[in-house]
Amino acid sequence: MSLAEIEARIEAACAAAGRRRADVTLVAVSKVQPETSVRAVLEAGQRVFGENRVQEAEGRWPPLLAGFKGVRLHLIGPLQTNKLARALDLFEAIHSLDRDSLARKLATAVQARGACPELFVQVNTGAEPRKAGVLPKDLDRFLADCRGYGLPVTGLMCIPPAEEDPDPHFAMLAGMAERHGLARLSMGMSGDFAAAIARGATHVRVGSAIFGSRA
Ligand SMILES: *Cc1c(COP(=O)(O)O)cnc(C)c1O
Repeated sequence: MSLAEIEARIEAACAAAGRRRADVTLVAVSKVQPETSVRAVLEAGQRVFGENRVQEAEGRWPPLLAGFKGVRLHLIGPLQTNKLARALDLFEAIHSLDRDSLARKLATAVQARGACPELFVQVNTGAEPRKAGVLPKDLDRFLADCRGYGLPVTGLMCIPPAEEDPDPHFAMLAGMAERHGLARLSMGMSGDFAAAIARGATHVRVGSAIFGSRA
């Protein structure tokens, strides 16, 4: 699908849900894609990109950031604390705040810098044993701890279990965000971004539908 087709689908999903297009950010997930594809999407006008590895993003983006104005990068994958400072140099949003040790170190680093990226807490809505994210039953406590550390969390993120209908997971995440007064919802990928928008997604993370499948 072209970027224009994805745009049209996002527009349609917003219209169907009675939402404004401006309230949904398309995060184009460029991980593992060749530079020529990323350049083509930049040239088509896309400006918000998601990467899931700090190191890969560091290798790819500095020359592209120099060449294209107004690009914003979001970290959507796991963040190791030893890469925290480098992540803060590069990303304006982190979608994968998922554990106490990271929250503590992030709070210290953010305080030293006097600036904080937009923060989403990743919730393991399916309580999958090998998946990152805070368990739903632990979320109240985790958010309270983040507040205690002075971390301004503004949203929640989830990756529903691959083999399940994602809609109940989107609904669950939306309910948790509402209960906590969090305005942002990072949910929906290539196969289900329209369903996520119907449930209130403010950030959809779309990779393969834009770029084609990853090598
Ligand atoms: C890769 C990835 C995506 C994009 O997935 P597609 O199915 O290619 O759209 C979204 N979110 C996260 C966290 C990812 O790692």
